[in-house]
Order: sequence, then structure tokens, then C-alpha cells
Amino acid sequence: MIDLQKSKAAFEEARKFMPGGVNSPVRSYPHMGCPPPFIASAKGSHITDIDGNTYIDYVGSWGPMILGHAHPAVISAICKAAENSTSYGAPTLKETEIAELIHSVYPSIEKIRMVNSGTEATMSALRAARGYTGRDKILKFEGCYHGHGDSLLVKAGSGAATFGKPDSAGVTKGTAKDTLVTPYNDIPAFKAIMDAEGDEIAAVIVEPVAGNMGCVLPVPGFLEALREETAKYGTVLIFDEVMCGFRTSSHGAQSFYHIHPDMTCLGKIIGGGLPAAAYGGRKEIMACIAPDGSVYQAGTLSGNPLAVTAGIETIRQMMNIPDLDKKLAEKTSALLEGWKESADKAGVPLICHQSGSMFGIFFSEKDVLNYQDSCEANAAQFKAWFLSMLDQHVYLAPSPFETLFMSWAHTDEDIERSIAASRKAMEEAA
Ligand code: PLP
Repeated sequence: MIDLQKSKAAFEEARKFMPGGVNSPVRSYPHMGCPPPFIASAKGSHITDIDGNTYIDYVGSWGPMILGHAHPAVISAICKAAENSTSYGAPTLKETEIAELIHSVYPSIEKIRMVNSGTEATMSALRAARGYTGRDKILKFEGCYHGHGDSLLVKAGSGAATFGKPDSAGVTKGTAKDTLVTPYNDIPAFKAIMDAEGDEIAAVIVEPVAGNMGCVLPVPGFLEALREETAKYGTVLIFDEVMCGFRTSSHGAQSFYHIHPDMTCLGKIIGGGLPAAAYGGRKEIMACIAPDGSVYQAGTLSGNPLAVTAGIETIRQMMNIPDLDKKLAEKTSALLEGWKESADKAGVPLICHQSGSMFGIFFSEKDVLNYQDSCEANAAQFKAWFLSMLDQHVYLAPSPFETLFMSWAHTDEDIERSIAASRKAMEEAA
């Protein structure tokens, strides 16, 4: 077994001072029966814990590290920016630069507001949609996670699902009642809700490629139906691309599927590993935001110079890599093909999903199209496979409800080693 003695001691100490010993629940390795590796450093595709174990990393800080860890150009840009101070709380040229850059990649974002986390982005986008439409209700999809804002912690996938709590204590009934929920990928169910309540619904929010019930792709016609119905009822369509943004393709899921939402939420990659996120969209909706309009939203550290610099450098580096999308998708397919072969050989039913450089597997015989399907996948087999992979120095998200990420820094050798590890892991899972 892998030596995690120092991590074990660190975890015990951390538990004295932090709930679950962590600052975000899934990091505590719920139900995995081992302490989470405490991380000391990471470089490229590798991450190293305080016991000195180095792993091939497919978590990538849950998505932002698309170039790999500690990319020299990103680190150097951050260091240079830090020499001029870490925050001003006043306008900077870099904020306009990132706004223009994001607009060039996501033309549907006519106006943007930078915030500090994906949670803030979705919460603020919903407030804008409510202010714009004058309506209270919102509609989300079961198993989609949009951060931990009160009105969105309803059938929320991700960490909440990992802990068997699709809802959260502390969310008032009053708040939850304005959140309607319907199954992902179920076009008739969605249309039925819109027909019944569409003219009271301020916004439909969706992960266009879902990443928080495992990686689940939209079925043909699903995103089209969302666009048509929301247009019909004057409801704001919000694409939460905090995870799939720059992953499904470097121009986002909206460009890949040719569906243009009214608003978009971004996060993860646009902060290059520092806390930055954004929401934006049609200029008449964004005109509602203070100080131009009456929807209030603000932030002491919003548009922080280090975070914005890291984001700009990350996006620029990505744009300079010829055929980035194609190459990242090829690496991801190669890994998944190898994992699938390892499962077939061990007689383990496995479903593999991929959207560009985000991907996931389900220990399931039937395809996974929604949260219910994802819950029915075999959690015991996932656990056995996960623990064996960890033991063989492959670092994965410790829950079947999470998504994995390929980075530009992953090499063919990393992928071959990860496939070899899966051969053994699948036998242990069988
Ligand atoms: N939206 C999606 C699709 C996410 O995957 C996440 C986080 O994983 C969020 C929103 C929340 O972002 P944050 O954790 O930065 O608050």
C-alpha cells in the first residue's frame, strides 16, 4: 500500500480545526477509507504529496489547470504582477483586457462582470435574470451543480451527491420553493414544466455538458429545446460553463453545440488556478447590474490583478498552441480507450464519456444520461478501482460524481502508465 503516514497525521491535525479537515467537502475523501494525500507541490501533469509520493494528476485542481501545474509563463506573469501589489480595489487595464479576450472567445458575452468563484457567478447571473425579467422562479436540472448558493443547492450533484445529500440543511423552504427541478436530458419533462410555468420562470440554468453527476453529455436536441422554449417564454437561458468552458472546446460548449445562451457563467480556467470567475451575456440584461442598473452585485477582490493576470496568460497560452482542442481530445480518447480495454479484459462493464478534455467513467452496463442513471452506477467497483489507481500513483477525483481533466502537460508516457495501472485496478474492481 502507498505510504500516506504524514498525510494521515496532517489530516488528524486538520480535523481539529476544520470541518472534515478540509475547506471543500470532497477533498476529505468521503467513503474512500484512506486519508486524502496532503499536497506539497505540483508541476506539469504531476502532483506530489507530503509523504513524497508523486502521482499523475487528472484532477487538475478540479479543472483550472488545463496547461498543467506551474506553467512557467503563467507563474512568471503572476510574480511580475505581484511586484506591483496584490490588490487595489480600483479599475485596472488588465480587467478590460480579460473582458475583451473573453468576448473574443465567447461572442455571446457582450458584457461581463468578474467575480471570485463559480458560486458567485451563478448566484449573480440568476439575480440579474430575476431583475431583468421581474420573475422569481428558476429552473435547474437534477444533478447539475452550480456552486453552493442557496437557491441552487437543490438536487445539486457533485459533493452533495457524494455525501448522499442532494439538498442542504440551512436552505429555507421559501428559497427552495422558487427553484424548479427537472431531469437532465429529458426534453418532454422540460417542455411540460415550461408549458405550465414558463411565463413565471426568470431563468433556466444548465451545465451544457454536465460535469457534476460524472461527465454527462447533452443528448441531441436537448440544448436546442432549452433555447427554443426559453425564447418562447421570455426566460433567460444561462449556460453554466464554469467547468466545460474552454474544455468542450476552447470556445466553449456553446460554440461546439452552436447554441447561444443569453448569459454565461465562467470560472476555473479563466483564473488560471487563482480565484476568478465571471458572468456575462446580452448587454440589455447586463445593463441591469449596478451601478448602471438596480441589480446589486459587488466584490472587494473582484477583478483581482493576480487572478486576472493568471487568467489572461492561461487563455493566451492556450490560443498559441496549434490544434489545442484536437490534441487534448486525442489524448483524452487514448486514455479512455485504454481504460475501456482494461475493463473489458477484466469483465467489468464500463461506460466512458468525454467532452474535449473533460471526461469520466461509469461502472455501468447502460449509458448514463442523467442523475438517476449516475446514482445507479456501481459505487463499490468505483471505490476499488480508485484505491488501486491511487496506490499506483494515479490521482483521481475520489467520487464517481466528479469529472476528470486532461491537461496539455500530460505526456504519452503518463497516459500509458495510467492505462497500465487501470489493468490491475480493473481486476481488483471485478
Ligand atoms: N458551476 C459548475 C458547473 C461547477 O462545476 C462549479 C464547481 O465545480 C461551480 C459552478 C462552482 O464554482 P466554485 O467552486 O468556484 O464556486
